[in-house]
This record gives sequence, structure tokens and C-alpha cells, in this order.
Amino acid sequence: MEFALNDDQQMFVDAARKLNERFVQPLLASHERLKGLPKEAVQSVMKKVADLGLTSARIPEDEGGAGLKMLDYGLIVEQLPPSIMLMVQPHEATTTRIHFGGTTEQKNRFVNRLISGDLIGATGSTEPDHGSDPRGIKTTATPDKRGNVVLNGRKQWISNAPTCDVIYVTCRMPVGDGGYRMARVIVDRTESPFETRELEMHGLCQAPLGEVNFDNCMVPAQNVCPESEDTARLLTITWLANRPAVGLMAVGLAQRALDMAREYAGVRKQFGKAIGGFQLIQSDLAEMETLIVTARLACYHALAAIDRGERANGLSAMAKRYAVDASEKAIAIGMRIHGAMGLSRELGLEQLARDVRTLTMPDGTPGILSLIQGRELTGIDAFR
Ligand SMILES: Cc1cc2nc3c(=O)[nH]c(=O)nc-3n(C[C@H](O)[C@H](O)[C@H](O)COP(=O)(O)OP(=O)(O)OC[C@H]3O[C@@H](n4cnc5c(N)ncnc54)[C@H](O)[C@@H]3O)c2cc1C
Repeated sequence: MEFALNDDQQMFVDAARKLNERFVQPLLASHERLKGLPKEAVQSVMKKVADLGLTSARIPEDEGGAGLKMLDYGLIVEQLPPSIMLMVQPHEATTTRIHFGGTTEQKNRFVNRLISGDLIGATGSTEPDHGSDPRGIKTTATPDKRGNVVLNGRKQWISNAPTCDVIYVTCRMPVGDGGYRMARVIVDRTESPFETRELEMHGLCQAPLGEVNFDNCMVPAQNVCPESEDTARLLTITWLANRPAVGLMAVGLAQRALDMAREYAGVRKQFGKAIGGFQLIQSDLAEMETLIVTARLACYHALAAIDRGERANGLSAMAKRYAVDASEKAIAIGMRIHGAMGLSRELGLEQLARDVRTLTMPDGTPGILSLIQGRELTGIDAFR
């Protein structure tokens, strides 16, 4: 077992850090902190991260993608702010789903332009009444007489919705005898306009998130994805790596809190000495580091298992749930070490706390992730 980064991995990490310092941080600082980034800014992000392979991480190199190992992908993700990765990861997952689950015509139309960042992608599954249990979704694609489909329904909490050009929509489609089948439809906003509304969130506010309303939205028949068991499998596969990657986004935030707390403990004096010299503060710092290192390792472990082609459903669910929770705890300790400064907007620690909590919901709530892990452990489905 090898725990050190190899040369390629070190190169990825250095390149991501450099991109963060030189491009991402100035971009975030030059826009409103509590509003989703405008479309031009999102596009500029996609074009930059495309060079790191982040817009096509899961598409093999010989098929035009970056073909990254998932562990390497996670190492890069950890270096970038989650408000950026919460735009990039859903975009990349959408691209991957169209690449593997679309027709040749769909791939030709969308995939290269998504990889380059000329188009912004989103995936719409969640609805106001259906989140963790998507089987009851109500958005319906009804075939019309000319062979097109008419979409009606509402999607909620959709990353990139306000700025997307293309949305990959999970919906139901009527089949004969009054029944329905699950379907996936690619909606191109220029040919099939739909309304979106930005939603104001607790954290990660610069990552555009919104609601999508399909009101008799006409979509050409060729945008309906082929019916295949592989499509469902692909959704699961993208979730598998998404989860530890979200865990690493949380770890990146917690590491920042630890770096700040260590520095503060060295300079803040009370009772005549630096607070870092008090045993309780050292215990707090040790606890923060323990939470962060164990969370990071759990995520790397899950991503490495995915790279080896092992079944990683339980590991991936465990990694995300543990890493977000551990990071939330570590950040809370870091805030406490800062006293009142930890609560002020000046330092940004309170923003780390809001941001990390926002990561608890996408790609599986803690409850759902426990159930997935429990199912792997027992073989029993406790979902319903
Ligand atoms: C920042 C962010 C980005 C997102 N991006 C996207 C996106 O791009 N595309 C998209 O489609 N969706 C997206 N979502 C939506 C996300 O996938 C859902 O929020 C998530 O699936 C949970 O659904 P819900 O919010 O409706 O909660 P619910 O499913 O209503 O759950 C409410 C609570 O009940 C618990 N619960 C539910 N079922 C069970 C059970 N069987 N046993 C025990 N407890 C249970 C849950 O754990 C949760 O605590 C995003 C959400 C956020 C916050």
C-alpha cells in the first residue's frame, strides 16, 4: 500500500492549487458573495477547469475525455473551493451521462461543447415532492402527434439551473395501458426554452442553484435518451465517485479552518501567553486534525476502490457521510478556537461552516447514505 502522492498526482495537486490562487479566488472575490455567479463567470470557470480534465474526468482519453483516475480526480477536487466544484461536478456528471447514455447524434451535438465549456450542463432529478426517493417523480414527457415530447413538471435544488444551456432531465413517459416508464430527456434551452428561478441557500451561495419549470416545453424526439439498463447503472456509477468527491470538498474546507486555527493559536494571547500553549487548545487542534485526516483517508479509500473496479457502494456512501460530518465538527472547533472572531464575517470561518453544511444534501443525505451502507452490510433494504 502506498500513501505518498506519485509525481503525476503531485503535478495535479500543484496545478489545481495554482489555478485556485491565480484564477478562482480572484474571480470569487470580484463577485457578490451571497449570489450565484453570472453565466460569463461560470463559463470562464468551465473553460479553465477543462484544462485540468475536470469537465471530462470520467470520459476515457481515447473517447475525447481526460480519463482521470477517480483518486486523482478527488485530489484535484480537494484543492478547489466547493462553490466552484458544485458547479463543475454536476456539469461533468451531466456530460458523462450523455456520453455513455446518449445516442451517437446526441453525443455529437452536446458532448464536445460541454467538455470545452461552451455549453453549461445540469442534471434535473429532484422535484418539490420527490428528493431521496426519485421513483415517484411527476415530471412527464408526453409524446405528441409529430413525434416530439412535451415536458411538464418542476425540478428543484438543481445545480447550475440558472445558468445552464442543457439539462438532462429524469422524467416519466406514458406507455400504453395508462402506465409510465422512467425516461431521460436532454433539453437544449435554445430550442426548448424553459424558466428557471435562482434559489437563495444557506451556504455555497456563489454556486448557482435553482428551480426549473417545464410548462408544455416541446422537446424534439431525438433528444429522448435510448431506453437501456445501462443508463440507470450509469447514474449509480456517477453518484459513486461524486460522493467521496463531495466528501473531499468538505475536507478542503476543514483543512482551511485548521490552518487558520493553528495560526491564530500561535498569535492570540490570553492570560499572558499564546492560547496555543494551553492544553485544551492543543487538544482541540489535535481533534480537528484527527477528524480531517480520517475523513480524507476514507474518501481516498473509496475512490481507490472505484479505480480498482471494486464494488464501492458502501465505501462511497460511508466516505461522504463521514467526511462531511467530520469536517463540520472540525470547522466548529476551529471557530471556537477563534472566540468571537470565529463568528465574525471578517475572517470567513462562519462561511466555511455554512458551506460545509450545504454539502450534506447533494448526492445523498446522511440518512440515505447510512441506509446504503447498511444495505451493503446486511443485504437487507431498509429504505421502505
Ligand atoms: C447544494 C445542493 C445541490 C443539489 N444539486 C442537485 C442537482 O444538481 N440535481 C438534482 O436533481 N438534485 C440536486 N440536489 C437535491 C438533492 O439531491 C436532494 O436535496 C436530496 O436528494 C434530498 O432530497 P430532499 O431535499 O427532497 O429531502 P427528502 O428526501 O425529503 O428527505 C428529508 C429527510 O428525510 C430523510 N429520509 C428520507 N427518506 C428516508 C428513509 N427511507 N429513511 C430515513 N430517513 C429518510 C432524509 O435523509 C432527510 O434527512 C441538490 C441539493 C443541494 C442542497
